[in-house]
Amino acid sequence: MSQICRKRRLQAGVDAAAGPVRYRKSPGFDGLLSRDQDAMKRYSVFAVAREAARYHSGWERAWASPEPKRKYDVIIVGAGGHGLATAYYLGKNFGITNVAIIEKGWLGGGNTGRNTTIIRSNYLQDPSAAIYEKARSLYETMSQDLNYNVMFSPRGVMMLAQTQHEIRGYQRTAHANQLQGVETRFISPAEVKKLVPIINLDGPRYPVLGALWQPRGGTARHDAVAWGYARACSDMGMHVIQKCEVTGVRSEGGKVVGVDTTKGPIDCDKLGMVTAGHIGTNAAMAGFRLPVESLCLQALVSEPIKPCMDVVVMANTVHGYMSQSDKGEMVIGGGTDGFNNYTQRGSFHHIEETVRALVETFPMVSRLKMLRQWGGIVDMTGDRSPILSKTPVEGIFVNCGWGTGGFKAIPGSGWAMAELMAKGHSPLTEEFSMFRFREGRFIDESVAAGVAH
Ligand SMILES: Cc1cc2nc3c(=O)[nH]c(=O)nc-3n(C[C@H](O)[C@H](O)[C@H](O)COP(=O)(O)OP(=O)(O)OC[C@H]3O[C@@H](n4cnc5c(N)ncnc54)[C@H](O)[C@@H]3O)c2cc1C
Repeated sequence: MSQICRKRRLQAGVDAAAGPVRYRKSPGFDGLLSRDQDAMKRYSVFAVAREAARYHSGWERAWASPEPKRKYDVIIVGAGGHGLATAYYLGKNFGITNVAIIEKGWLGGGNTGRNTTIIRSNYLQDPSAAIYEKARSLYETMSQDLNYNVMFSPRGVMMLAQTQHEIRGYQRTAHANQLQGVETRFISPAEVKKLVPIINLDGPRYPVLGALWQPRGGTARHDAVAWGYARACSDMGMHVIQKCEVTGVRSEGGKVVGVDTTKGPIDCDKLGMVTAGHIGTNAAMAGFRLPVESLCLQALVSEPIKPCMDVVVMANTVHGYMSQSDKGEMVIGGGTDGFNNYTQRGSFHHIEETVRALVETFPMVSRLKMLRQWGGIVDMTGDRSPILSKTPVEGIFVNCGWGTGGFKAIPGSGWAMAELMAKGHSPLTEEFSMFRFREGRFIDESVAAGVAH
């Protein structure tokens, strides 16, 4: 196959008509491998029957756990969704597979495995709508693309308007979304009640006055997103290295040359830092600062109950949001702490405030037992928009600032970040440079992302 033909096929990876994409493996591996064919063989109906008969003792590990090499073309720090997606699209879209994804804990153990999995793209500003809608559309085909069921459920997301100010804000967003080609509309309280019979429209503090409705928004299984990408990266010959912390960044003459890790020094030509709430400490290792604050955001989940709500509801004024998982648990999200910290637990009073908001919006919640509560360290920027950017050190790129709402952006962010790292620019990342803060070019998404997820 000619180089051009091969590149086109790689770039058309999400297009099912292009057929399975064949990946070039890293040096050290022989020849070409068809990931889809290989996965089909591993997860065929015969394999499932065979393993059922032998008590599932023969499954191969989904991804390898290699020791680090001395040098890679690209190192990605952080095996959360954004880091793994960046690596995946480097391989898939640009044929760059000599890549290591280095994770200090376990993959998906950061915010990617701690979020409430809401996916939507109803943002106000054009650059945001572009990257979030790219992500939402990639979620639609992610299970087929990765040959891994990420359980994407486009069940619809609604953001309740409970003040006159919110009505105006959401109507404005609906108009902006129409111009951007994002399908949303403002719906009446009667339509809200029809979609969510368990809702209380006449809450004691704020009545429901309407909602911004995105019918193709929804949820996906967060762990599966991380696992699916990890398996695909591993199949391309990339190294997913867990339990390995990056402790230093080495540069020479203003250009990155490698990182120091708890498994020894590793060299690289390019470095992507994708560590969410820990990005500040990573940037400090490389000698620059980022306008990002780290805060704990928490969520909780109830005991499982019978299906009672098949859309996602966000109530930003009273501040609580809820969806029902496939197991039947009510997945509930709350607010961020009012102070910077790295605790991954969250303040107790937020649980009380979140549950109070939920009880007035859905009175039946008062009779539910809560099973678990947890927190994650989110990375907040001043304009509530992400940073996908080159940095003052040549060869170092950052992808952070997704704050309370980056799960929904994972595939779009990975797609764009890979393009930025491979080509030096990407139309999707142009506005999201870290330098916009000193130049006053904010992308203000405080209505869409300030408290929402
Ligand atoms: C409670 C909660 C609810 C949320 N709800 C939603 C939601 O409904 N919808 C939505 O879109 N978003 C939501 N979010 C936000 C979303 O989870 C994050 O924006 C997204 O997961 C960030 O992904 P990431 O890959 O950038 O970071 P992470 O998944 O946090 O991955 C970063 C990884 O970097 C690793 N790391 C850090 N430092 C180092 C180092 N020095 N060396 C090696 N590895 C390192 C960490 O261990 C971590 O695994 C929520 C977040 C929380 C906490």
